[in-house]
Amino acid sequence: MSGVEVITFGCRLNTYESEVMRAEAEKAGLNNAILVNTCAVTGEAVRQARQAIRRVRRDNPHARIIVTGCAAQTEKQTFAEMAEVDAVLGNEEKLTSASYRSLPDFGVSAEEKLRVNDIMSVRHTAPQMVKHIDGHVRAFIQVQNGCDHRCTFCIIPYGRGNSRSVPMGAVVNQARNLVEGGYREIVLTGVDATSYGGDLPGEPTLGLLAKTLLKQIPEIRRLRLSSIDSIEADAHLMDLIAEEPRFMPHLHLSLQHGDDMILKRMKRRHSRAEAIRFIEDVRRLRPEMSFGADMIAGFPTETDEMFDNAVSLAEEAGIAHLHVFPYSPRPGTPAARMPQLDRALIKERAARLRSAGQRLHRSHLDSMVGTRQWLLVENNGLAHTENFTLVAAPGLRPRDLVQVAITSHNGKHLDMQLAAADAV
Ligand code: SF4
Repeated sequence: MSGVEVITFGCRLNTYESEVMRAEAEKAGLNNAILVNTCAVTGEAVRQARQAIRRVRRDNPHARIIVTGCAAQTEKQTFAEMAEVDAVLGNEEKLTSASYRSLPDFGVSAEEKLRVNDIMSVRHTAPQMVKHIDGHVRAFIQVQNGCDHRCTFCIIPYGRGNSRSVPMGAVVNQARNLVEGGYREIVLTGVDATSYGGDLPGEPTLGLLAKTLLKQIPEIRRLRLSSIDSIEADAHLMDLIAEEPRFMPHLHLSLQHGDDMILKRMKRRHSRAEAIRFIEDVRRLRPEMSFGADMIAGFPTETDEMFDNAVSLAEEAGIAHLHVFPYSPRPGTPAARMPQLDRALIKERAARLRSAGQRLHRSHLDSMVGTRQWLLVENNGLAHTENFTLVAAPGLRPRDLVQVAITSHNGKHLDMQLAAADAV
């Protein structure tokens, strides 16, 4: 191999940062190197990263292997002690060419491989400018990093530090750069995106940022948010939901559970009733809105009844895109010190919540048959509607925005036929 190869795990923020890492590593003249940008959200994610490192070492005996990302930040020793690994960079260090210019020599001790600072000491998020998002038709833009909350199950703040926002002007420049590069959909992403602006002069909100982007860049065809915390949605955001057709009718919510006692033990900031109320308010403003949600099954102390409250919340809220996480104890988090449920029970509950999610997804697909939808065509013969539903798009050109008639579905994606000559 030659040049720089990047392997990305985890969230859209990592996908965006992998583009920054590639550009910075190339700027430093790095060659014959593999950057593994890891995720620490679950034990499984860390296991997969270690497996990938062993595989790429086998396939590339002479390449330089550099591990970065949240698992490198929170479990640096684990990776430094791997013989396959040449360097371990923290989440801050991975974003600057200076790090790639001063890498440790081959064959040094585990200690000497480490370039990981105290992420809690980081106060700013340096604006980055990427030209494209490799392999993606939709452009993710990082607007915020880190998190000031401390949900008891979550390791992210220990991997990414406290909340910090990218100044609005830098976000606008980044978006304009990507739109000029041909991207028609912009996805604003962060760790806790709804806390955007709390550390900036004048404390602009996420909603105000989105409004400003759409006002200053009329060429943006579709603006989407990655995951948000419903309890922190601001008034500008509710305006956009109600009035702005270019603001996509889809929200992915960090709900996590449907039982108030478990939400309390998770240190979440919303109750079941507040989550339901938010979803009802949004549906009143924008009836075609679809919702996705992250939910955890098998959190410590969860009883059968409490678990049933998680399933019933997803059903009552009509969550069309449910992402289910079997609870995974993360080292150093308060929940890892609580009495744990049996692994088999956690797996069984996750399977039951997933099948509830599949039922909900199926009825969402049923409701879309017979409608007309605008699609953004992706690279893999698939496309997404405005409300983020997957559609098979054989023969259509990536990046095209086309209007189609939805004819049927196969339980996973919709099928379509082109609506009369409405391609743009
Ligand atoms: S809000 Fe909670 S779950 Fe989300 S990143 Fe912060 S600590 Fe983790």
